[in-house]
Amino acid sequence: MDRKAQVLDKLKGVIDPDLGKDIVTLGFVKDLNIDDTGNVSFNLELTTPACPVKDQFRASCEELLGELDWVGDVAVTMTAQQRKKPAQSGNGLSQVRHIIAVASCKGGVGKSTVAVNLAFTLSRMGAAVGIFDADVYGPSLPTLVNAPFHGLFQDGDSIIPVEHDGVKLMSFAYAAAPQGEGRPAIMRGPMVSQVINQLLTGTGWGELDYLILDMPPGTGDIQLTVAQLVPMSAAVIVTTPQQISFVDVVKGVEMFDQLKIPTIAVVENMSYFMCGNCDTRHEIFGRGARAKLINQYGFRNSFEIPVDAEISALGDNGTPIVTVAPDSDIATRYRELAEATVREISRIANSGDAKPEASYDPDGKISYRASDGTEARIDPAELRRRCRCAHCIDEMTGDQILQPEQVPDDTTPRQIGTLGNYAITIDWSDGHSSIYPYDALAFDADGDADGPVADGDRADLPERV
Ligand code: ADP
Repeated sequence: MDRKAQVLDKLKGVIDPDLGKDIVTLGFVKDLNIDDTGNVSFNLELTTPACPVKDQFRASCEELLGELDWVGDVAVTMTAQQRKKPAQSGNGLSQVRHIIAVASCKGGVGKSTVAVNLAFTLSRMGAAVGIFDADVYGPSLPTLVNAPFHGLFQDGDSIIPVEHDGVKLMSFAYAAAPQGEGRPAIMRGPMVSQVINQLLTGTGWGELDYLILDMPPGTGDIQLTVAQLVPMSAAVIVTTPQQISFVDVVKGVEMFDQLKIPTIAVVENMSYFMCGNCDTRHEIFGRGARAKLINQYGFRNSFEIPVDAEISALGDNGTPIVTVAPDSDIATRYRELAEATVREISRIANSGDAKPEASYDPDGKISYRASDGTEARIDPAELRRRCRCAHCIDEMTGDQILQPEQVPDDTTPRQIGTLGNYAITIDWSDGHSSIYPYDALAFDADGDADGPVADGDRADLPERV
């Protein structure tokens, strides 16, 4: 084997944890050079400059190449893939790679605060970032980010975005009030989308890895129209524990689902309060909502942000907490959210896997095809008995409420659909609706018709009946 082949062979041992493939197969290794003395250099072209595992990649490359006795120095240069032009070029968004919606079902849950802190965290991770405040009813960007503002200026046909700490900003408030003092607007749906469209596409964003779109609160027609305006890569839903009704979160997921936009994370904001005196966590609004999200809906990424006087005081002051206290516990939580966002988007953009599918076959079985192509066939009544909703399983104790004998053997699905990137929904002939996270629909490798099995992570699934 020549030296180049030996190096590539070793580098095949470095696996991208999100894409599940090695860095050579993924085409990340570029410009490999080996000199006469055995010094090796190459570029590692990652999917995003904010890649959270870049240090891990570097260490693994160095370690594996160190196993070749002829290798001298190893120089790995981290680069990122070129930003590709999205569908609608020719406007201000033409060099924006990913648009991420931050949405909530209700106002005042901290959606804008999350949007701003997520944006500044992504920027600190090395990405080029912008924030578009599409909340025309209560534009808060000028309050949350204290950027110097002396009015909006044009460059050719485009509006120059306001900039603070490397992040580009645009808000309806900047356009509505020359001094940046936004007032809630009274507008009807078509006007809202027109104003947003003009401002969003009329802004010269330049090259951006991520544009965070702070959506108007709610899941009605206006929100749907805004979400249709631009090709979004993903959505993050913000909620609070006292409002964390599944119905609300699911409504949000469904809205984005209609447009084939996956919801990649749910943030439970103001989730608990850490008392400075007794150093105790107070679950002032109750707890368990996050676990329910994971167990019942299969959301891989859900995050808790506590009630914190500093978040609010700094926010009202125009200084996002992640910029002034980057090492704080709160900033760490935003970092986890940002890392999950980067990884999920990279996974969605680069994964060749098909979305899982379920269908009802003429022979009376439900066919399920997982994203890796594994297929299985399940008895409908058995799947109905495995429903994990609050009507079928006691949320507090985990005890089975629905008894197997209550489900007739001839139960059939009336409608089968998908929810977000995570779950299959089934409306049953007994009038009940169930949601099954993909994880809960994992099957035996031989793909027989035994139905779902609980794997290690899903040990909380009820015993088979
Ligand atoms: P929304 O965009 O959902 O209307 P905002 O982000 O404007 O909500 O937040 C509403 C208020 O709540 C603001 O005063 C903000 O500073 C405060 N806030 C947001 N998140 C937190 C938190 N985790 N702890 C304390 N205050 C918060």
